[in-house]
Amino acid sequence: MIAGVRSSIRAVADPILDRSALEESLQLVAKEATRFLAQVDTAPVRPPGPREPAERLAGGLPAGGAGSLAALRELIEAAEEGATRSAGPRFFHFVMGGGTPAALAADWLASALDQIAFNWVSSPFAMRLEQISLGWLKELFGLPAAWSGVFTTGATMANFTGLAAARRWWGGQHGVDVEDSGVAGLPPVPVLASGYVHVSAVKALAMLGIGRRQVRTFAWDATGRLDAAALEAALRALDGSPAILLATAGEVNAGGFDPLDVMAELAEAYGAWLHVDGAFGLFAAVSPATRELVRGIERARSVAVDGHKWLNVPYDCAAAFVHDPELQRGAFAASAAYLGSEESDRPVFSDFSPEMSRRARALAVWATLRAYGRSGYQAMIERHVELARRLADQVDREPELERLADVSLNVVCFRYRPAGPAEDELDELNSRLGQAVLDDGRVYFGTTVYGGKVAFRPAIVNWRTGPADVDLVVTTVLELGSALLASG
Ligand SMILES: *Cc1c(COP(=O)(O)O)cnc(C)c1O
Repeated sequence: MIAGVRSSIRAVADPILDRSALEESLQLVAKEATRFLAQVDTAPVRPPGPREPAERLAGGLPAGGAGSLAALRELIEAAEEGATRSAGPRFFHFVMGGGTPAALAADWLASALDQIAFNWVSSPFAMRLEQISLGWLKELFGLPAAWSGVFTTGATMANFTGLAAARRWWGGQHGVDVEDSGVAGLPPVPVLASGYVHVSAVKALAMLGIGRRQVRTFAWDATGRLDAAALEAALRALDGSPAILLATAGEVNAGGFDPLDVMAELAEAYGAWLHVDGAFGLFAAVSPATRELVRGIERARSVAVDGHKWLNVPYDCAAAFVHDPELQRGAFAASAAYLGSEESDRPVFSDFSPEMSRRARALAVWATLRAYGRSGYQAMIERHVELARRLADQVDREPELERLADVSLNVVCFRYRPAGPAEDELDELNSRLGQAVLDDGRVYFGTTVYGGKVAFRPAIVNWRTGPADVDLVVTTVLELGSALLASG
């Protein structure tokens, strides 16, 4: 009997043991991904497929396996039908880059090698590459070489990382090691910002136990622009008590910049920590034409920047930089006997990061910087800034469109304002038009509220984007706008 049971078990093929499927699986995906990307320049951003795009993949847990190739084929078909073409050049929503050829392929390689960017024993290769790539990014952005850094999943965690170092510093000012003792018994942490502050930085403060409500904003007007005098008055009123200044380089609605040099000056004068959220705006440093926007960045204490936005590496990737390696390390170091100890000139990146096991994100960053260099990135940034100005000019030429902000970098903030509708009807009209743009799918961007007005804010960040893509923005808005008006 037992022998019979055994042989019947053996008779059920276990697809996980089918090693021959590996090569075919990789080739299948390479072929299909190449095909997908060959169409991404012109395909509708929102595919015409079903509203619930992954529904065909749902159902209960499969009792038995379908095998590698069958599973991948199902996935590819569903993706063809339902995946947003956000890797393409006409996706202007949020601030989303694509993947350069070198970055995308290196990211695949990172999965194949499956290196764990934990420490120098688990993968000296990933550690050294992270050190090199972070060094290159510091050069690219003009940040001091002596700063520490680490790759994170996104700017939210990069903000978290920088602000964790700030919290450690702040605790130290009160004579407390907050990682050791916690924050109980300490006063609230004063966090001061302009109205540009990004929700992810506020989320990071929530996660750090500092609390969302500690953020006080000093805005000059409804767009959020910094009121530096009010900020200084607040710092003065703190009477020497340490505080965190939270600056934004590249605000999401219109691409505005806090005056970093002014904030650095105040931070130095009043003994505060300056953290800069430069998720996409830090790339202004890459071109002499826009570098002025981040003047003073090297006087910050910590800086966050995204990789999956303007660096155009695939999701997910960002970096945090901190002026004092010991504060960053102190915020995150963890030790246990089995993990071993390391030498000081070789940073153990898990000790600088909220994560322990980590994807080797450095492969994609290294590859894209090696492939295109400083000049390639400078040219791309300048191309995008040029495209944003082109779009702004088109908006300005159309009597039915109204630009709401200066274009300092790569975001163009405007709204539809045809003759007819009253001012108090425009918000609703623009909201409906924003939805119509998304449904249409030729180009992709939604609405925001800027200075109290519902507005569009296409952002140009994808390496593939060219003039023809950008030209579709105004055409589409005018066409769908007049259709909306005609339908009442
Ligand atoms: C996108 C963005 C973030 C959040 O970045 P994630 O990578 O989504 O975590 C933070 N700040 C600014 C200014 C951003 O544009």
